[in-house]
This record gives sequence, C-alpha cells and structure tokens, in this order.
Amino acid sequence: MLDTKPLILIVDDTLTNIDLLSDVLREDYRLGIAMNGVKALEFIKKNLPDLILLDIMMPEMDGFEVCRRLKADHATRDIPVIFITAMSDKNHVARGFELGGVDYVTKPFHALEVKARVKTHLLLKNQLAMSARIFESSLDGIIVSDSDTIIQMVNPAVSLITGYSPAELIGQKTNFLKSNRHDNKFYQKMWKSINKTGRWSGEIWNRRKNGEIYPQWLAINTFRDLWGRVTNYVGVFHDVTVIKRQEDELKYQARHDALTSLPNRVFFQDRLQDSLTYARRHDELLAVLFLDLDNFKHINDSMGPTTGDSMLQEISQRLLSSIGKRGIVARLGGDEFAILLEDMKNEETAVKTAGLIHETMSHPFHFKDHDFFLTASIGITFFPNDGDDAETLLKNGDMAMFRAKESGGNSYRFFTSAMNKEVARRLNLEANLRRAIEQEELRVYYQPKVDLQTGKIVSMEALVRWQSENNIISPSVFIPLAEKTGLIIPLGKWVLHTAAAQTRKWRDKGHDLRVAVNLSPRQFQEENLLEMIHEILEETGLPPQGLELEITEGVVMANEENAIDLMTRMAEIGLFLAMDDFGTGYSSLYYLKQFPINTLKIDKSFVDNIPSDDENVAITSAIISMGKSLGLEVVAEGVETVEQLIFLKDLGCDEMQGYYFSPPLPSADFSRILRENKSLSIID
Ligand code: C2E
Ligand code: MG
Ligand code: MG
Repeated sequence: MLDTKPLILIVDDTLTNIDLLSDVLREDYRLGIAMNGVKALEFIKKNLPDLILLDIMMPEMDGFEVCRRLKADHATRDIPVIFITAMSDKNHVARGFELGGVDYVTKPFHALEVKARVKTHLLLKNQLAMSARIFESSLDGIIVSDSDTIIQMVNPAVSLITGYSPAELIGQKTNFLKSNRHDNKFYQKMWKSINKTGRWSGEIWNRRKNGEIYPQWLAINTFRDLWGRVTNYVGVFHDVTVIKRQEDELKYQARHDALTSLPNRVFFQDRLQDSLTYARRHDELLAVLFLDLDNFKHINDSMGPTTGDSMLQEISQRLLSSIGKRGIVARLGGDEFAILLEDMKNEETAVKTAGLIHETMSHPFHFKDHDFFLTASIGITFFPNDGDDAETLLKNGDMAMFRAKESGGNSYRFFTSAMNKEVARRLNLEANLRRAIEQEELRVYYQPKVDLQTGKIVSMEALVRWQSENNIISPSVFIPLAEKTGLIIPLGKWVLHTAAAQTRKWRDKGHDLRVAVNLSPRQFQEENLLEMIHEILEETGLPPQGLELEITEGVVMANEENAIDLMTRMAEIGLFLAMDDFGTGYSSLYYLKQFPINTLKIDKSFVDNIPSDDENVAITSAIISMGKSLGLEVVAEGVETVEQLIFLKDLGCDEMQGYYFSPPLPSADFSRILRENKSLSIID
C-alpha cells in the first residue's frame, strides 16, 4: 500500500533531539533523519520532504545556510522550514524568519506544541499547493493585477487563450489586451461597477496576440488587505467564441432550410414583412412568386427520398442562378419554393421571372443514369394589389399557384383574373406585334395639318397603323406595349424611314411639305438616335427642314439635361421640334422657355367641347397666348367641328389638325387630296 503520510525531515546533530522528535512524530508521519546540513541537502535532493525541522547550531553548515540554499532553489523553496532553537534566542528566531522559516520550536521540546506546529504548517502548505494547482490547471484564464491594474500573475490558460506568454504579460497593464470593439463608455461603466461593488462580470471583446478579436466572459473581483486598501484585481475569464459560433449556427439553422441552405419559411416571412414596410413607405411594387413542383411527388416515391433530396438541391441551385440578385429565393417546405421580387418597375418583371424559372426547369435533371423532367406551377401575387401583409400575399400566391396546377401545370397564374387576362392579352399582342413588324403588316397614315390663315395643307403627322387580321389596332394600345418591350426601337425606325421616304416623294412632286413623326421616351434615350436620323435623311434625301419630331413632356422630364442637349443638336441641324399633347403633363412656361422647340400642339382633350366648355376655353386661350408670346407655332389637335375651328382661329391659333378637315389617311389617299389641292374653307 502506498504510504501517503507526509514526509518530515529532521535535521539535528544531537541524537537525543532526534530521538525525542521522532518519538513525537513517528505515529503520524514518515520521517527522514539528517545529522548535519550537508547530509540534509543530499537527502532533500533524493526525497522532497513535506516539511523540515531544522536545527540551527550545527557544525560545518548551520541551519541558516541550509535554509538559505533551500529558499534559493525553485524546487525546494516552498518546503516549510521550522527551526529548532536550543534557547529562545530572539536573535536566532528573527534571523530564521528573515531567511524564510515559517516557525520555530524550542528545546526542551513540548510534544504537543511540536505536533501542533508541524500540523498547522503542513495544512497551510497543503492549502497553498491546492490553490496553486487550481490556478495552474484552471481552464479559465486568471489574471492577477495590482491596484494599478499592472499584471502580476497569469495562469497557463491565459496564454492558451490570448497567445501571449506570461513574460509578455507580466508588467503590462490589463488594458494591453483590449480590442477596439467597445467605446470608452463601456469601460467607464465597468470600472464604476468595480469601484462601487468590488466586482464586474459580463461579455467583453479582447484581442489575441495574432490580432484576432474574440468574445470572452469575464468576472473581475477586487481584493483588499486587512485595512481595506485595494491590493489586487483578479480577472477570471473564458473564451466564448465557440459558444457564440454555436449560437449563430443555431440562429442560422432556425432560419434556413437544412437540405438546400435556402432561407426557410420563417426567414422568408420576416424578410417579406421588412420589404413590405419599406415598399409601403416608398410606394414600391413587390411580387411574391409561389412555386410548387408539378410531378415531384411521383419521382420522390419511385426513386426514393435520396434522389428526391438531390433533386431539390439541384432545383434550388437552378433557382438561385437564374434569379440571382433579382430576388430572394426560399424553400417553404417539401417541394414548395417562394421568390420575393422587390422594387419592380412593372408587373412584367414578375412574368419574366416566371419565364426564367420555367426555362431553367426545362433542362433535364440527371440522376442515377436517368433523365428526369420536372415542371413547376407558379402563382404570382403583387403588393399592393393582392394583399397588404406577408400572410395574405403568400396565401393568395398559393391560390394562384393552385390555379396554375389546375390548368395542367408548367405555367403561371396571377392571383386576380383581371391580371391573368391582361397579361395573356399583352403577351399575345407582343407576339403578334413582333410578327407584324417582321412581316411588314404596319402602315403609316398621314393626317394633314392646315394653316388657319391660308387654309392650305402645310404639313402632316405620320401615325402608325396596325392592320391585324381583320381589325385595326390603335397605336395608343400597341405603342405603350412596344415601348415596354423595346420593340419601339425597330418600329420607330421603320416609321421614320417610311415617312421620310414618302415625304421626299411628295416634295419631289412640288408639294412643300414637312412630316411630323412621333418619338417615344425610349427612342429618345437611344444613344445613336441622332445618327439614325442622319442616316435616314441621307438615304431618303429628305432635307432636315422637311422633318419635324414630336415629343411629349414626359420624354424631356425623364432626363432634362440630356434632353435639352439632344434637342439643341437637333435644332442645330435644322430639324423642327414640336411639343406634343401640351397641357397634359407638367407643362410650365419655365420648361418651355428652355427647350429649343418650334411648335406647341394643344392636346385634343383641351380642344374638346370648346367653345361651350368654359374651362377648356380658358386653358386653350392661355396656351395659345403663351405660345405666341414665346414665338412658337401653335397647333390645335383633334379639331372636329366648325365651332372649334372658328374659335381657335379667332384666338390666333396657327394650324389645326383633326377630323374636321381629314382623318389620318393612307399615303395613296393623302396623295389624292394633295393632287386635288384640298384646302380648308376659312370662314371669317
Ligand atoms: P398623338 O401624337 O397625339 O396623335 C394624335 C392622335 O389624335 C392620333 O391618334 C390621331 O389619329 C388622333 N386624332 C387626330 N385628329 C382627331 C380628331 O379630330 N378626333 C379624334 N378623336 N382623334 C383625332 P392615333 O393615331 O391613334 O395615335 C395615338 C398616339 O399614338 C399618338 O398621339 C402618338 O402619341 C402615338 N403614335 C402614333 N403613331 C406613332 C409612331 O409612329 N411613333 C410613336 N412613337 N408614337 C406614335
Ligand atoms: Mg403626335
Ligand atoms: Mg398629340
């Protein structure tokens, strides 16, 4: 059995003393004996005693020297030494304490006293050793500083956590370790608590030697001496990086789908809520696309869930790469996905996105040597039209998706039937318009503009016509569509070319005519618009003075500076410019003055019902006099009656355009009225 009794070394040159002490201690301790100082040191080298009883007066090497040597050696300095003094010589006692002895016993020995002193010091030593072991082995970092926060002691855990060796830390102030994560206020608050209550604990970010900052949980305690003066601060801390990471991980898991890593329903709903708040404030259009795979259940059942899982992962990848930054893709569960589109210009974007999704799904999925085809049904809902909150939008999206399913799947449906019809109509129209442009189904009609002084035709507006199958579709329907889809660019170019070529022919026949062609906002933004016009004039041989461009205020407002610049360059080459539909937009005199325009066209809506409609009379009169004062030609649009005509002429309007004289005509008919010299009979 292991002898666990403490080992006590008795050092004395007198046998009687040794015997006496041995008798007292034998029962409770193991004993080592040395008859002189040198022997004692030899013994200690071999067996480290727990306590030494050391005689002072010995030949060769006295007890003081032995003690001095023991205290100088790191390995032995913590062994408590109790001196044995023959007399109670106060000088010896004092010197013994000075050298690091913990106590003394006097000869002749008093057995109980010796026992008590030995026991007390062994217990003390044990306690100290235990504290030291705790300090050394603690997994928490422990930093002991003095009252000026200068580091006195650190345990190994501190080095493990911070990366600094004890030598690098001891002597530094504790704020040596601080990160710049906290402001002064934070530290002020901490010290306020330490000074007031003696302690502080909380989470704090510090910096490691490698520069990395990390969160730690820190408890600081103040230690005071018997007189109440602060002697030390002790900080005990542990690194909570891992815990924090786990917390983050848990948070992430709660908001993401484990299979695909996409945001889950909770996340999606939160995000949608935020977006709705923003959209409400900024008057934005949002869309939620609710997507459900059509035949997934079947594949999952027949191929097994592993293939099903891989397929869902692949689908989420495809959705992500096709939608990219355009929207947020989430997996709501099972084979249901949702997509949020924010800040859309118009509903078209949602249609396009649905198209992209169907496109990305149309490629086969390859698993286990099989090609699978998957399709999706998509329900589309809009904020604000179809719902004001996340829940309603999702519910309505679900319903719309269900309708897409009912109609056979692999398609999309809107929540409102009006929207479904509208989009179907638009898409149909777009396809047809594309074809019409390709197959040259479009025509340009010309509507004469007549001088109200002479009654003669001075120019004409080129108006595009689309004869589709057996009905004529109004440009007010398809021009906005062409504008949205970009078809306006080839269409506009074609109209311009046709009108210029035709006008050149009429001019060749001696008619001094100018043709007015409408320019839409998108055309106006085309970088090479001016080049294109140049080319057309060159190709057709029409001089710039033979061409007038009609633009609306909206065109100019979109990008005022560029617009003024472009218009100035147009005017410089001799083109005429007209402000179309004047009065319907932001029209202000201020704007008009800045633009190099020649003509003002009063919108038909103001010409309607004059002279009986007082308001229109007032507006029309104002526009005419304003136009005149700016030196502009004023043209009245949509003149249908003789009353309107007389009234306009009286106000000093320069030209009229309208059914009263002629509707827009095909070029052949226009040629005929030119030949016939048709003119307006002016009634004075
Ligand atoms: P707008 O430039 O203001 O053209 C005048 C419109 O008023 C034409 O309609 C014309 O047919 C109509 N109109 C003329 N006189 C009368 C009348 O006495 N009574 C009534 N009720 N209507 C009259 P349209 O041809 O349907 O064109 C509508 C709009 O479509 C045009 O308005 C113009 O903004 C646009 N548009 C037409 N052709 C083109 C084109 O080739 N390119 C571009 N960018 N836009 C065009
Ligand atoms: Mg016009
Ligand atoms: Mg107009």
